[in-house]
Amino acid sequence: MAKRETLECSFCGRKKEETDLLIAGLDAHICDKCIEQAHGIVVEEVVGVKSNALSSELILKKPLEIKSFIDQYMIGQTDAKRVMAVAVYNHYKRLLQKNTKEDEEEIEIEKSNIIIVGETGTGKTLIAKTIARMLNVPFAIVDATVLTEAGYVGEDVESLLTRLLQAADYDVEKAQRGIVFIDEIDKIARKGDNPSITRDVSGEGVQQGLLKLLEGTVVNVPPQGGRKHPDQKFIEVDTKNILFVAGGAFSGIDRVISKRLNRQAVGYSASISEDKINEDNLLQYILPTDLKSFGLIPEIIGRLPVLTHMNPLDAATLKSILTEPKNSIIKQYQKLFDMDGIEFSINDKALQYIVDKAVEYKLGARGLRSLCEAVLTDAMFELPGTETKKLHITKKYAEDKILKTTLNKLKAVS
Ligand code: ADP
Repeated sequence: MAKRETLECSFCGRKKEETDLLIAGLDAHICDKCIEQAHGIVVEEVVGVKSNALSSELILKKPLEIKSFIDQYMIGQTDAKRVMAVAVYNHYKRLLQKNTKEDEEEIEIEKSNIIIVGETGTGKTLIAKTIARMLNVPFAIVDATVLTEAGYVGEDVESLLTRLLQAADYDVEKAQRGIVFIDEIDKIARKGDNPSITRDVSGEGVQQGLLKLLEGTVVNVPPQGGRKHPDQKFIEVDTKNILFVAGGAFSGIDRVISKRLNRQAVGYSASISEDKINEDNLLQYILPTDLKSFGLIPEIIGRLPVLTHMNPLDAATLKSILTEPKNSIIKQYQKLFDMDGIEFSINDKALQYIVDKAVEYKLGARGLRSLCEAVLTDAMFELPGTETKKLHITKKYAEDKILKTTLNKLKAVS
């Protein structure tokens, strides 16, 4: 009886009446206020431990593991996957080395920023995004075409870091280990290979601006709406551990490669004889000098030392992309229909038809999605809430829907 009268929180001493809730344990009680406070401490501690543990987690990811992770989301492109896996592995090894001791004698591993050359829609963004997802680091995509030299209309190169900070929810430490994907790097190439004749302010100026960032420097970044630093004018971000991945289609570079290869083949040191060259996929022979001929300045090429390429996507690859990756387009539709209790299936001929149309319209992997939408929009509009619990797509069904959409579009144009 006496015990009941003295019921109180064993942590803060509040009487039962002063609390909203008092929970009994074996030998003690805890009130709602203390639970909230304790929860806050747990969250803070766990997050802290997690970010410290990041470096030790990274040890576990060997290049083979990195590649098999990417394999779940991405079809083919074996060369790029291998090169990226090694580059990312080495990059994070470099971070770990920094975390050991400050040894003056230690060999400093240089950054392994990456440049991927490949037609649009071949998976350049996808591979960088997938790696960021695996490492659980912030990831930002920036289009190089919006960048301009400081003082010109457009965004300064520092805006790359603003995006990364936003992706890291303004956690500077986290952002400093992030990955930035610079898309369309080819668009800031110098026009022509002769610097004295061509004065191309925007392109070359931006390349110059990027140099320091790629190499590693401390930059004052305008936060632009960061909640955590509302009054701060600038946030200091050190880019030395940020991994930069640049991507570009470099359209026309195949001619540069072809020219070089032919020159080599004529010369006495020919290593690839002409008949062995696969003319359909010249990108696989790309060398840094080709990027220079295209108009990237040598300093930029030097700071993006890992060069790889994406192969063009053939019909077989496109078909695999539709169905095989972990979150493939078809699996996504299956899930969408499943949420309405509808069993969705599509036969092989229908898949092949969609792929053929993507090839015919030169839409690449990006077009697969819009073609599927064209095929399935009617069903997604009409079926939910009806008695129909099964949807099977045949070639005829797909054909009808795609022809209808195409006809409509043609009508709209005329
Ligand atoms: P890029 O950056 O080269 O222009 P993206 O990475 O944005 O191309 O790819 C466009 C779309 O195509 C993405 O949504 C991606 O899902 C898909 N895709 C491209 N290549 C592949 C691939 N090899 N495996 C799986 N999906 C791919």
